[in-house]
Amino acid sequence: MVDGVVNALLSPGLLAKQTEFLFAGLGIFCWVIWFIIAILIMVWVYKDAESRGMSGVLWLVIVFLTSWIGLIIYLVVRKPKVMAPPPYPMAPPPGYGAVPPPAYGAPPPGYGAPPPGYGAPPPPPGAQGMNCRYCGTPVPPGSMVCPRCGGRL
Ligand SMILES: [Zn+2]
Repeated sequence: MVDGVVNALLSPGLLAKQTEFLFAGLGIFCWVIWFIIAILIMVWVYKDAESRGMSGVLWLVIVFLTSWIGLIIYLVVRKPKVMAPPPYPMAPPPGYGAVPPPAYGAPPPGYGAPPPGYGAPPPPPGAQGMNCRYCGTPVPPGSMVCPRCGGRL
């Protein structure tokens, strides 16, 4: 029984089949890798062509149809990349960038500072036990006894 199974596993026919499966799997794996690389190349060609003012779709199709040949053709015939934008005139147009009129920069008088008494709101009475409940004297927070009348807070 066991001998029969071992013999079957080690039989030349089955070994050949296993090897065939193994190589088929490797083939599919390599094909997937190649497919991913091809897609990356086509994406790069598309972006590169677009950045050079060429038709990205056209070269994408060419590389897709002709594989490496199209890629080589593209690398040969592609235009030199535009390194710098078209030169701008050195001087700005007249009136552009000049100092604004003086009346425009300064705020009107009294606009910057808040009116007196507006900045600090008055402390709310009774908050945090700050006033004595007997005489109304303000008491420092945390005190147990009123500093004026001595009443317990
Ligand atoms: Zn008090």
